Amino acid sequence: MATINSHYLTLASGYLFPEIGRRVAQYREQNPQARIIRLGIGDVTRPLPQVVVDAAKAAFDEMALASSFKGYGPEQGYTFLREAIAVNEYASRGVAITPDEIFVSDGAKCDTGNIQELFDARCRIAITDPVYPVYVDSQVMAGRAGERDQAGRYDQLVYLPALPENGFLPELPAKKIDVVYLCFPNNPTGVVAPLSYLKMWVDFALQNDVIILFDAAYEAFITDQTIPHSIFEIEGAKNCAIEFRSFSKKAGFTGTRCAFTVVPKDLMGRDGEGHEVPIHPLWLRRQTTKFNGVSYPVQRAAEACYTPEGQRQIQETINYYLENARLIRQGLLKCGFSVSGGVNAPYLWFKAPVASSWDYFNHLLHTANVVTTPGAGFGACGEGFMRLSAFGDRADVEEAMERISGIPASG
Ligand SMILES: *Cc1c(COP(=O)(O)O)cnc(C)c1O
Repeated sequence: MATINSHYLTLASGYLFPEIGRRVAQYREQNPQARIIRLGIGDVTRPLPQVVVDAAKAAFDEMALASSFKGYGPEQGYTFLREAIAVNEYASRGVAITPDEIFVSDGAKCDTGNIQELFDARCRIAITDPVYPVYVDSQVMAGRAGERDQAGRYDQLVYLPALPENGFLPELPAKKIDVVYLCFPNNPTGVVAPLSYLKMWVDFALQNDVIILFDAAYEAFITDQTIPHSIFEIEGAKNCAIEFRSFSKKAGFTGTRCAFTVVPKDLMGRDGEGHEVPIHPLWLRRQTTKFNGVSYPVQRAAEACYTPEGQRQIQETINYYLENARLIRQGLLKCGFSVSGGVNAPYLWFKAPVASSWDYFNHLLHTANVVTTPGAGFGACGEGFMRLSAFGDRADVEEAMERISGIPASG
């Protein structure tokens, strides 16, 4: 029998969403008449923009003819898409990223999980707490996280608390680290990073030989002109950062799959002797070995996001979600909750009036028939907080907020 990778056995069971599902199913069984509203899910609900669908259909028609059929494409992505990304996401903001620094992929989840393969097993990894669980679990699988304690924390990871005291913007680590994952606009707190905050991290990274893994999956929700969309808007970031982007939340691609990662050519790591080694060729080697590219029709669909009509349709959907977020925020504030996010982000994070976020999850499910996400599922510092998402239907959002305002604050 094959001996398994024992690091998988130290993973905490991926129990957050299954446990939510179990509790909702149980409640539904006992209360079949209840109309349950889900404000917890991190998936989009609005359809793809029509120009995106049209582009995909046209591309499939090309696949139907021998003269325009396409087999394997370039592993890094078609040039037409990488050029469109370089122009529309970066040059438009005064950032010089070349198409060959862009790697098209089928998701920011895989890229944020796979990137750690490039780093030594002894690298010290810092993550925020609460956090998107992928960053943690991929370190555990690689054997870089160490032992898990009672609170669910791994002894070889460096946790950076995001709490009301620091405005959910973690301070720089006191310990030596090699790599840090940052995500802004943040999932789960909904907080955005001002330019000065990102500059603090870039300066720190340059001075301390740290690589920043910057997840900007939600940048499309930024409406405030002063908030950077990209880490590369900060001077020096091309020497210390990798950026992850996705069409998932931006353009409704969660079920269509397209994302991209930017690895600057100037970014260096070190080999065992301390000599500088460029990271870009390593990621290229990794992707060309283990990944065979995103399908041609999907890359054409992603390209269509950058047409004027595509941009308009995408913005319309983003505005719809942002209005949901505004309504949720307003409703929570009216109830007297202390709320972050919901502005420049599709998530809202609020302090539960009881100590346990699972208890408050139950309270909201039972009294308001509203499904939320308990903050404890995102890390020890998430305990006592709840995440709401603005990805739902407008009428559901309005009704959910009406119900929440009509129930006793705690059970
Ligand atoms: C949704 C999400 C992503 C996007 O993942 P895809 O694989 O591109 O769908 C990335 N990072 C965070 C924090 C997310 O919430």
